[in-house]
Amino acid sequence: MDIVSKTIRSRMMAGIRNKNTRPEMLVRKLLHASGLRYRLHRRDLPGAPDIVLTRYGAVIFVHGCFWHMHVGCRLAKIPESNRAFWVRKLGENQARDRRQVDALRSLGWRVLVVWECLIRDKMHAERLREEIVNWVLGDLAYLEIPG
Ligand SMILES: [Zn+2]
Repeated sequence: MDIVSKTIRSRMMAGIRNKNTRPEMLVRKLLHASGLRYRLHRRDLPGAPDIVLTRYGAVIFVHGCFWHMHVGCRLAKIPESNRAFWVRKLGENQARDRRQVDALRSLGWRVLVVWECLIRDKMHAERLREEIVNWVLGDLAYLEIPG
C-alpha cells in the first residue's frame, strides 16, 4: 500500500523540483541590482545549483526550509501523520544536500545557502543584499544565511 496520498505526493514532487520560486527570484533580483552576473540551474554541476557565479567560483542554493530541513527552523516541522515516512524522506534530502555541497567544494566551488524563512520574514532586502554580495566577493568557502 502506498503510504503517501496522491495529493501529498504531487506536493512533494513540486516541492523538490520547484525552480524559480519567489525567494529565489528575490535573490536573483538582489544580485542583478548589485551588478553581479550569474547563470541558473547549471545541470553540469552537482545538485544543479540555483544560481552560479562562475567568475567568483560561487554557487547559491535558495532552500525551502521544509524540504531541506533547516535545523531549528519553525518552517521545518515534521508532520505528525506518517511521521516515520517524513523522517526518512527529509533525512534523505538532507543527506543529498550534504553530498552535493561536498562534491561542489571538492571541485573548488564556494557554496552559499539562503534559507527561505529569512526571505519570508521580510528581512530588510538591503541587509540581505549586502550579506550576499559580501560573501560573493569574499573568500569564505561555505555560508548559510541565516547562519
Ligand atoms: Zn528556515
